[in-house]
Amino acid sequence: GKKIGLKETADCLKNADSVIITSHVSPDGDAIGSTLALCAYMRGIGKKADVVIDDELPRSMSFLPGYDDILRPEDYKGSAGMLVIVDTDSSRIGGVAEISNGLPILNIDHHISNNGLADYIFIEKSAAAAEMVYEILTELKAELTPEIAFPLYTGLATDTGFFKFSNTRSSTMRAAAALIDAGAMPHVVSEALEAKPVEMVRGQMEALQTMELTAGGRVAGLFLDRELMERLESTEGFIDMVRVIEGVDVAVLIKCVDENVCRVSMRSKGLDVSKVAGEFDGGGHIRAAGCTLKMPLADAKKAVLDAIERALEA
Ligand code: 5GP
Ligand code: MN
Ligand code: MN
Repeated sequence: GKKIGLKETADCLKNADSVIITSHVSPDGDAIGSTLALCAYMRGIGKKADVVIDDELPRSMSFLPGYDDILRPEDYKGSAGMLVIVDTDSSRIGGVAEISNGLPILNIDHHISNNGLADYIFIEKSAAAAEMVYEILTELKAELTPEIAFPLYTGLATDTGFFKFSNTRSSTMRAAAALIDAGAMPHVVSEALEAKPVEMVRGQMEALQTMELTAGGRVAGLFLDRELMERLESTEGFIDMVRVIEGVDVAVLIKCVDENVCRVSMRSKGLDVSKVAGEFDGGGHIRAAGCTLKMPLADAKKAVLDAIERALEA
């Protein structure tokens, strides 16, 4: 693919007549926020645009304008001239790949593990894809409406742990400030994202019972078996419960999401966990990464803890 900059990305969008906008499976606030904002902008300037994501959406984000319009690939009936992939590369868009087969791809991403398989690739080390979309819309002199500001603010907030993680830059805060001026309300976003049913809190209690410290206290893990996973509606934020333990360099959450399928999340204070995830065909960022292992929980646990320990020793 061809690496492009801010201006070319803006031109690319301006010159498109109709687009499918997508992001990764297991969509997070950045995936949903960035795609919704781009879609609202494109529609606002008279383009045909649809957000298509091949997964269930977190219900906590249903307050976002445009959320109800997000389509699954099987429900997309139109046609478009370009596929825009945001907050991931072409490897994690699920069935959207089939409905967009043959279309030129514009990829806007902030992951160091991006596979480079797109016609036009705009990559920056931004805190969030939402920060990149904010820059693009600024370049396009877009009018920032609440329909754009709320989703982008949500993307910034979720990818930075509400402006706490090391990826939070002054430019992130300046973008957030402009989005607040444009109508985004921080308390509305945080209250919607933090609210959880009481079963969730009970689930956290049970998840914490599985906590294990290894590597002399440098690694903390939660290991959720199939039975517990079937009762949990979400595991959002679980990994943060052990990430904060003093002396822990790497936090890991392993979830048995299907028979012999384990989803792994890792967070670190400096060790490059995207490399560890890469050993299992996953990826992400230096301090936050993930992968999927097709094996039972006990085997996945051993494989991942071994890989983390090896990385810590290296
Ligand atoms: P999470 O643990 O929140 O699911 O993911 C943390 C980070 O790693 C996110 O930025 C996410 O995009 C990335 N990530 C998680 N799982 C995968 C995966 O299977 N493949 C790749 N390439 N990235 C992943
Ligand atoms: Mn994401
Ligand atoms: Mn992101």
